[in-house]
Amino acid sequence: MSKRIAIIGGGYIGAPLAQALERSADVTLIEPRSHFVHAPAMIRAVVDPTLLDRALIPYDGLLEKGRRICTRATGIDANGVTLEDGQRVEADWIIVATGSSNAMPFKPEGADIAGLRADNQRIHAQLKAAKTIGIVGAGAVGTELAGEIASAMPDKQVTLISSDAALFPAVPGKLGRSLADKLRKMGVTLILGTRAEALASQAEPHAGSLTLGGVEHSFDLIFPAIGSRASSQLLESLPGVQKSTAQRIRTDPWMRPSSLPNVLAAGDVSDAGDAMTIVAASRQLPWLERTLKALVQGKALERMKPYKPWGAKAPILVPLGPERGNSFLVAFTAGDWVTRKMKGEDLFLTKYGKLMGRKD
Ligand SMILES: Cc1cc2nc3c(=O)[nH]c(=O)nc-3n(C[C@H](O)[C@H](O)[C@H](O)COP(=O)(O)OP(=O)(O)OC[C@H]3O[C@@H](n4cnc5c(N)ncnc54)[C@H](O)[C@@H]3O)c2cc1C
Repeated sequence: MSKRIAIIGGGYIGAPLAQALERSADVTLIEPRSHFVHAPAMIRAVVDPTLLDRALIPYDGLLEKGRRICTRATGIDANGVTLEDGQRVEADWIIVATGSSNAMPFKPEGADIAGLRADNQRIHAQLKAAKTIGIVGAGAVGTELAGEIASAMPDKQVTLISSDAALFPAVPGKLGRSLADKLRKMGVTLILGTRAEALASQAEPHAGSLTLGGVEHSFDLIFPAIGSRASSQLLESLPGVQKSTAQRIRTDPWMRPSSLPNVLAAGDVSDAGDAMTIVAASRQLPWLERTLKALVQGKALERMKPYKPWGAKAPILVPLGPERGNSFLVAFTAGDWVTRKMKGEDLFLTKYGKLMGRKD
């Protein structure tokens, strides 16, 4: 009998993994959303809501042989997965890829795609009406958002605020310096090395004020962009789990988050030594595919090569609108042209449309 693999979550790990394994095992993908949400395009969608139709990709073209169940998983044990309605998916191997949540309007709340569309429309209208915009947090999302707004709406006064003294302090300095120069030339004010106090909401854009270095600053619209939080509730009650930062669960060298030998976790929900990025997912995927194919053939997990994370050397691509940007590509830091061709122009929309078997 063919081995049963249950994959929980159909994001950047779960969707391609289900596709890669559906001919080697009896695969069930558990995902409550009707659409795959292509996160990199959700930033530009704030300035251009017409992008949403391409960024939200229906799941119905993803699998040919495997089964997709459109519901939420509520429990895991050694024998399988319990679903929201109490039904069971029995499995030999379980992969937890429940990802993370982020502020509005970058990711949906739960499965609510209609709500995401409504949030995007409302926040776009608020942005159009606003003159002064504060962005709190200068990670990739905050920095890209500043670039998108400055590029599409050059009349706005955009302020990007970070408690770090430089942009992207964890990668070689050229990336952050170059992005900071470009943003300033685009008219963005950078307030670095200053923690924003009195942020009224970490979850949703709002009008209001922030205290910066003891001084109150008012903005017509403040975007919180202070990072993702792992959706790790399913894993928390398993035996032997250990939390790391942002609610993530640490995994062992074979991506196991607990002492259950047949449960693996990957992507944002788990801390295998990688950042919470698609770049990390794309390194984890080939390992997962190879390892699971060997497991269904009866090989023992500990006899296989452990997963080796990117560590500090992961590439990062940071467009500032469709034309400009910089990328850290490990061997070198690239400028506008490379960043535009690799990401800024298309935001991987064509790639993920194809991967998801988009029919419309
Ligand atoms: C605005 C934005 C832009 C980004 N841009 C980039 C970028 O350009 N490059 C990059 O490398 N990274 C980027 N990232 C990070 C990237 O989106 C994440 O690293 C990636 O989504 C992680 O993939 P994942 O498969 O772990 O989880 P997710 O993509 O979050 O998918 C998790 C899935 O699990 C489902 N799920 C959750 N709970 C359950 C449950 N209980 N039962 C069943 N299903 C469940 C969810 O519905 C979801 O579909 C961006 C993030 C944001 C917020």
